[in-house]
Amino acid sequence: AVKTGVGRVPAHSATEPEPLCIFGTGDLGRSLGQRLLQSGYRVVYGSRKPHSCGPLPPGTQAMSHSAAAQSAALVFICIHREHYNFLETLAPQLQGKVLVDVSNNLKKNLYPEANAEYLQRLVPGAHVVKAFNTLSAWTLQNGPSDANRQVYLCGNSAEAKQAVAETATKLGFTVLDRGSLCAARELEDFPLQLFPEWRLPLRIAVGLTAFFYFYLLIRIVIYTYVQKGDDISFRIMVSLANKVFPIVSLIMLSLCYLPGVIAAFLQLYRGTKYRRFPDWLDRWMLCRKQLGLLALAFAFLHVLYTLIIPQRYYVRNRIAGSTILLNKTSAFDSALAWRSDSFLSTGILGFGLYVLLGITSLPSVSNALSWREFSFVQSKLGYLTLFFCTLHTYLYGWNKFLKPTSYPWYTLPGYLLCLIVPTVVLVLKFLLLLPCMDRSLTRIRQGWDRTNKVDDGEKSLLA
Ligand code: NAP
Repeated sequence: AVKTGVGRVPAHSATEPEPLCIFGTGDLGRSLGQRLLQSGYRVVYGSRKPHSCGPLPPGTQAMSHSAAAQSAALVFICIHREHYNFLETLAPQLQGKVLVDVSNNLKKNLYPEANAEYLQRLVPGAHVVKAFNTLSAWTLQNGPSDANRQVYLCGNSAEAKQAVAETATKLGFTVLDRGSLCAARELEDFPLQLFPEWRLPLRIAVGLTAFFYFYLLIRIVIYTYVQKGDDISFRIMVSLANKVFPIVSLIMLSLCYLPGVIAAFLQLYRGTKYRRFPDWLDRWMLCRKQLGLLALAFAFLHVLYTLIIPQRYYVRNRIAGSTILLNKTSAFDSALAWRSDSFLSTGILGFGLYVLLGITSLPSVSNALSWREFSFVQSKLGYLTLFFCTLHTYLYGWNKFLKPTSYPWYTLPGYLLCLIVPTVVLVLKFLLLLPCMDRSLTRIRQGWDRTNKVDDGEKSLLA
């Protein structure tokens, strides 16, 4: 036997590929074995029933756990944690070997310790490395794709981690070292995550949609029925939806920019950028991309619903009715023409910029941009998008807010409600752009600290 780095393995000729061992001939074991074979490794399986363990990748061998363990320095444990206890009896054969723990759990905090730490406790003489658990058997079989390129690993032995990292790199994956075995629990929790960064934006989107739907339902449909006895419930499907989607889209877009503005005012107030933001602001800032993408989705719905307006029976019927009634042509109102064209134009420009923001947030596009280009698009063009969309909404309202009929049951129209947040954001941003504010904020962001300045002043006075 020769010693190769961290474990003892039987000698094999220079031309023969290095053997690796896999315990378990299940889904992951077989996919991993196939991938290792394709990358030039020799694979031996350790199984409870080596002679009847089903079809294995051609060119591999199956043997008892103890014989397989002795044939390689690196052993992948492709077995569920519940069955690990038999490994304790194999401790002598696994002494000095690198054990790769690929296991996951069904729930968070199912066990008091991480699976990899448990394995290390069962086989204290081995070097346990947690790795590959974030990849599925399917990914392993099909090879790395763009989204699944990373292999996270952690372990207490640098040499053992190096051996696993080399194998992962040879399989075509990028390795991300997360430190010692204490990080194993964190790695085991990764596959259990379900869109964690989308949760808050989705809740906001669902909450706003539900609120405005009911609000407009009461204001428009129920009010008309109660006051006039007219049943216009058919409006729920298109009219109401097409009022709610732009409202939610505009509010969510402004919620993308509000935390940045709040952060800027906080820095101005504190006179330093070296104090941490409150947790809620940090969390809010971290989900701005998702807020923006959801806002874009609602804007898309608004565009699609607007495009189908001429197809609606209700609209066609009203157009036909008004054509019969209006024999004479009404006088051309230039102000109304300006308003209508500006309303449509700001909507189109706003949506065009919206799409541009969405495209530049795609990783493949944002990776190709410099930091300055990215922040130009997301910040400058982002505010311009917000400005156009807000203006589009103001033009939609025009002078409707002056009419008493716009306030059934003393409720504000939806478009007025949705203008509150974007208007606040735009006004605050405008204040931040004033030279006196902008100069102070730029100095703070370049490292100037008001408290230090006082110290410096005192020092110079003393001097
Ligand atoms: P699986 O298809 O159920 O295979 C598990 C293998 O473990 C069995 O084929 C069996 O192999 C062995 N085994 C079962 N009971 C045993 C016992 N009592 N004692 C000793 N060995 C036993 O499971 P899998 O999907 O391959 O998953 C294996 C591990 O990889 C799990 O820890 C899982 O969390 C992890 N994982 C799986 C995936 C995936 O996509 N499947 C992804 C990431 C991580 P023998 O009959 O040859 O002994």
